Amino acid sequence: MSGFIRERNPLLESSQFVKGVGPSRQVLLSKLGIQTVEDLLGHFPRKYYDRSRIVKISGIDMGGEVTFVASILAVSSRKARRGQSILTVIAGDETGNIELVFFNQPYLEKRFHPGEKIVVSGVVSMYGGRKQMISPEFEVLSGELDRSLLHTGRIVPVYPLTSGISQRMMRRIISSAIEKCRGKIKENLSPRIVLEEDFPSREEAFRQIHYPDNFEQVERAIRRFKFEEVFFLHLLLKSRRNNILMKKERPRFAPPHKMLERFLEELPFSLTGAQKKVLSEIVRDVEGKGLNRLLQGDVGSGKTVVAIASMLLAVDKGYQSAMMVPTEILAVQHFERIKGYLRNLPVNVELLIGSLDAGTKREVQKKIERGEVDIVVGTHALIQESIAFAQLGMAVIDEQHRFGVKQRATLGRGKLLPNFLVMTATPIPRSLAQTVYGDLDLSVIDELPAGKRRVRTELVQAEDREKVFEQLENAFQSDKQTFILYPVIEDSSRENILSAVEQFEYLQHERFKEYPLGLLHGRMSFEEKHKAIELFKSGEIVALVTTTVIEVGIDIPNANILVVNNPERFGLAQLHQLRGRVGRGGDEGVCYLLLGEGVGAESIDRLRFFASTDDGFRVAEEDLRLRGPGEIWGFRQSGYPSFKLLNPLTDEDIVRKSWEESSRILSQDPELKSGENRLVAEYFYRYYKPKMELAEIG
Ligand code: ADP
Ligand code: MG
Repeated sequence: MSGFIRERNPLLESSQFVKGVGPSRQVLLSKLGIQTVEDLLGHFPRKYYDRSRIVKISGIDMGGEVTFVASILAVSSRKARRGQSILTVIAGDETGNIELVFFNQPYLEKRFHPGEKIVVSGVVSMYGGRKQMISPEFEVLSGELDRSLLHTGRIVPVYPLTSGISQRMMRRIISSAIEKCRGKIKENLSPRIVLEEDFPSREEAFRQIHYPDNFEQVERAIRRFKFEEVFFLHLLLKSRRNNILMKKERPRFAPPHKMLERFLEELPFSLTGAQKKVLSEIVRDVEGKGLNRLLQGDVGSGKTVVAIASMLLAVDKGYQSAMMVPTEILAVQHFERIKGYLRNLPVNVELLIGSLDAGTKREVQKKIERGEVDIVVGTHALIQESIAFAQLGMAVIDEQHRFGVKQRATLGRGKLLPNFLVMTATPIPRSLAQTVYGDLDLSVIDELPAGKRRVRTELVQAEDREKVFEQLENAFQSDKQTFILYPVIEDSSRENILSAVEQFEYLQHERFKEYPLGLLHGRMSFEEKHKAIELFKSGEIVALVTTTVIEVGIDIPNANILVVNNPERFGLAQLHQLRGRVGRGGDEGVCYLLLGEGVGAESIDRLRFFASTDDGFRVAEEDLRLRGPGEIWGFRQSGYPSFKLLNPLTDEDIVRKSWEESSRILSQDPELKSGENRLVAEYFYRYYKPKMELAEIG
């Protein structure tokens, strides 16, 4: 098109210029995240009042809110005691009269003119034998009940607000925004999907979600917007991945896998059925389409062995492998374990963590660059700018929820696109995984190694603390080891919350004077932490007074008892991770949940449920129900998308539909260039370019 004049898109204009806003209200709107007209339209109601059913005054009973149309018969105002002003409006229809009473709103008087019609919604009360409504919602009618009404006489929206903006104000502003855009809101979905799914047009959907004709229309509009939310995310994740794949191939590893075979032969145990199944899925991927897989398995299900096996697939073919874990302690532990497992294999294993001295770090870096390291285990140190793998063929990420989106993506920024194995102990439902992880395949280890004892969990009231301490004393005498965990390191200024540092003083110097205790928390230096763990491992100390620093992966077989203080402060999934630290050596583990004082009934119910099951999948489900996905998998802090309307768990059908549709579009029209997809592309590039980094997930 030559001479093409860019059509002004009212959605992109500042919301400040919408009628009823202006500079000072814009400041308030910004607090609600509203900058543009489109943001205003996207400020969806949190609920609706159905004021569409009109009754006659004679039919009004005490009870809930009712709506009626009446003529104004008389208006009077008076001053009452203490300067209160009272405005009384008598309104009536052919069936009877009613009094509307407004306190301290003298300015309303000029809104009511006898003879005019009004529509009113309110709750009736009886006063001196007369029907009365105190401060009802009302609107003066210019003609009929119609779409121009904003506050009553129809289904009306109720918005989230911020101080300084009233419900009526917000209704007027959003309604002006809709008017401003009338006839100018473009589609952003392809005509085919709109037809197939019976979606309203985008413009109609905005109109109906704010000022619905009926509740079916609200549902239709909401479905459409939910679809939009997930569809453009899917497009982003998939199109980006396609681009990467076009430029960079994941290396594939053809059979035979000699090193893997030797590793399995030398392993002191045989793999569980579930480990074998998952490993075969991994092998199939690295031989075929490339590996990009999320591995879920409960605490103690043996994910590490599978990870090592996977890394050997790459090493066998001359590629490097990396394993990234969230803490230095865990890195060291994995490093040592891996070296142990592989001592008879020609594999060069190195450790890379921030607290190595500069010289050692540089040396490991050099080796990584020259390809002299086969497997490197490390923390975030692995993704520093200065690290350049010679040829990274396999990247394993352990405890994925501890990492942000970008951090993981960085492992794939080298010359090669590595095979990815991402591991988690907190299971994620498939529809949720599809919304946050793009096209990762899912594997599950749903079986614990034989001989694994379950952990018994007991809920203990604050006043029974001494009983737990007596149990600990018995345990110390029979050389059993214990974690005593507190919710905070030091600051216990809040009431009823104990801290590790202070309690360590008390326990070591008073309650358990005769026994050597240790302290382990996140603010200690790496050397101090390492030392505490070594002393604990060797049995020189019988108990570690600690914090959630032990949450991820610490493996100390002789630790059988875990005392969690103030368990009401933790999420269930986290508590499950924590109790996975005990009972690892074969003997039964015990987890005491030592309640703080004055814990509410709801918390106690939640913890009772937790104590009743040792199944990490059920625990995660319950946690999900109680707290939502953001908290559990740390999505919020790590840059994952959040949705306004979509709930990936309950809207599975929409997620699935979007998944299929995004695949279909991209396979037919990878660059979104066809006429049918022109508007899809326009919206996509404008809104999702800034979110590009999201696409690098996995
Ligand atoms: P997680 O899945 O929590 O990371 P780990 O990989 O740390 O679990 O394994 C837990 C423990 O179980 C480790 O001590 C490991 O050596 C052991 N283990 C793993 N697989 C098996 C198996 N097939 N048979 C017996 N023990 C196993
Ligand atoms: Mg682990």
